[in-house]
Amino acid sequence: MTRYPNSQDWLTRARSVMPCDGAQTLSKGPSRNPESYPAYIDRGKGPRVWDVDGNSYVDYMSALGPIILGYSDPRVNKAVVERVEMGNLFSLESPPVVEVAERLTTIIPGAEAVRFVKSGSDAVSAAVRVARTYTGRDLVLVAGNSYHGSHNWFQVTQELGRNGVPGNERQNIQMFEYNSLTELAGALNNLQPVAAVVIEPARDFTADLPFLQGAKRLCEENGALLIFDEVVTFGRWPGLTYARHSGITPDLMALGKALANGYPLGACVGRRDVMDAFERCFISGTYNGELTAMAAAKATMDVLTSEPVVDHIWRQGRKLMYGFNEAMREHGVPGEAKGHPSCHRYTFTGPRAQELKLRFMAECASRGVLPGLITYPTYAHTDADVDRTVKVFHDVAGVLEKELWA
Ligand code: PMP
Repeated sequence: MTRYPNSQDWLTRARSVMPCDGAQTLSKGPSRNPESYPAYIDRGKGPRVWDVDGNSYVDYMSALGPIILGYSDPRVNKAVVERVEMGNLFSLESPPVVEVAERLTTIIPGAEAVRFVKSGSDAVSAAVRVARTYTGRDLVLVAGNSYHGSHNWFQVTQELGRNGVPGNERQNIQMFEYNSLTELAGALNNLQPVAAVVIEPARDFTADLPFLQGAKRLCEENGALLIFDEVVTFGRWPGLTYARHSGITPDLMALGKALANGYPLGACVGRRDVMDAFERCFISGTYNGELTAMAAAKATMDVLTSEPVVDHIWRQGRKLMYGFNEAMREHGVPGEAKGHPSCHRYTFTGPRAQELKLRFMAECASRGVLPGLITYPTYAHTDADVDRTVKVFHDVAGVLEKELWA
């Protein structure tokens, strides 16, 4: 506890004026972290963050995914600062909005048009709304096992999230088992006409290729639209989207997170004829064309398309996963890295799994590493950072071994 006194003070202050431990993003709150853990970050640069107690860390939480180039990337900073000086919001649209849209249509196969919003939740909701408008149908099928944001249409399916959402919204959403083509086919045959099928094609898991191919075919056969939620995957897979990586082009894609290296931007992209249906429904926001995010997106896209960002992230991620597995194996700790190099988690099994996980996180933090609940390596993580992290994994595995057999 003594390592984090200022974090604790901020948490106390937050709790006195805000609900939910003051966490504006669920996963940033202390509820899933060990007791001895930093709660408040002061600043970040490249792969590193400093907490409010002055402790520094190699950070792999990457703000839960948006940070793809590293914190406070100089190229993004330069673009944003230039834009701040020119003004970030006006009463008419500005050219960077068009430029970013053009850019996205160039780099993402199947993105024939773009509608900007401010978050991943906005983006998936916009896709669902335009799909319903285009097809004139209400029912949306959602592959389970995923998260699609905080808006009503999805939260009505969630245990906590359904509170505060009118129950009749549930009538127009049907969940089906992830990766089950049989369930999807059944749902498409048995139910009312389906507007869209929403799938998160990968995160720290991956959809089976035949499932995605089958989903595409079934959607075509049934006049339903296929929506990929690429909020997490964009920028983290070879080819930039999972759609491109898998060779399957959905009708619509929802993008967010890594689009602008931490600046708030989301986008719904897809088939031109479908996207034109935005003219017949309502998606609009005072801040949707806000220009610091556009400047950040332009700068981020420049790097993503001209430097080996994805290769680098995968190389570092591979070393981390391999290093973790080896460290756990050497010390006989039941732990395994699961997922993909660009997005994975460190898991533990057995009766003390939860205790091991929390202890792992706390011990890593006290040695200057924040692996987070999900690990998102960035372009800024150097070989030295990763080697040091793997060394920390070995040291922590040693502590866990002692704890486990004590
Ligand atoms: N879709 C997916 C797959 C996500 O992981 C998230 C957020 N983690 C969202 C949508 C919602 O994005 P946001 O939090 O930016 O609204």
